[in-house]
Amino acid sequence: METVAGQRCGYCLTPQAITGAALEIEHILPEVAGGLTVEDNLWLACTACNRYKGRRTHGYDGRSGEWVPLFNPRRQRWLEHFSWSKDGAEIIGLTACGRVTVDLLHMNHEEIVGARSLWVQAGWWPPES
Ligand SMILES: [Zn+2]
Repeated sequence: METVAGQRCGYCLTPQAITGAALEIEHILPEVAGGLTVEDNLWLACTACNRYKGRRTHGYDGRSGEWVPLFNPRRQRWLEHFSWSKDGAEIIGLTACGRVTVDLLHMNHEEIVGARSLWVQAGWWPPES
């Protein structure tokens, strides 16, 4: 599974190699919502995304006025739901799913945006896909 997930967070794409912080195995559908500990329901996430996601499965998208499921890194393509800001430091939600996932998982929290800015300067960021 770790090979498939590419050693980076399935949500914010933060790679373990840049942060030195071990990724966590997370339940895409949380256990409290009936998610099983089987490969099809597991993915890698950074500590921040995993913590903020917690037991959440859906979020309210103010623009569309709908409750939508959070992004599923195993079933959905990242580039269909997210893009990078012009400076490469922030994640922009392109769809209702992308917007609620960026918001609820705090994918642009101050510390990670600061780190991404340095990664951009180093030529490591943003990732191509
Ligand atoms: Zn993350």
